[in-house]
Amino acid sequence: MYRIGYGEDIHRLVEGRKLILGGVDVPYHKGLLGHSDADVVCHALCDAMLGALALGDIGSHFPDTDEKFRGANSIDLLKEVNILIHNAGYEVNNVDVSIALEKPHLRLHILAMQKKICSAINAPISCVSLKAMTNEGLDSIGRGEACRAIAVVLLKRI
Ligand code: MG
Repeated sequence: MYRIGYGEDIHRLVEGRKLILGGVDVPYHKGLLGHSDADVVCHALCDAMLGALALGDIGSHFPDTDEKFRGANSIDLLKEVNILIHNAGYEVNNVDVSIALEKPHLRLHILAMQKKICSAINAPISCVSLKAMTNEGLDSIGRGEACRAIAVVLLKRI
């Protein structure tokens, strides 16, 4: 039996923060603003995995009002979500993620992100697709003010 899930996240790009995407520290003079490390890729993926099983959303499991999650490593949140879906009797079949970011280009970092995510969700690299795109200069992402990630996941019964 299969379940499909969808997740989306956006964070502002600001000076004075690290740019953490898919668990990788991407060198850039700006980073994403948030209570945790603001890793939009992991957040979208967490929401897709939770959504597939109607288990709520990332905010209900890891509230940004909880000091425990200040500066949290979102790869760790992804690992926790993976445990939740395992406890519900499911595992990841495959994931597909798109990251919209004007700058910097992510091509050289995609493989490192895939490896981090693979180990967090216990999936082979052939089942973890990450795609990077710009927003062609349009809207807040195109102006370099934000980064968005969209994730689709298929879970299968263990
Ligand atoms: Mg988020």
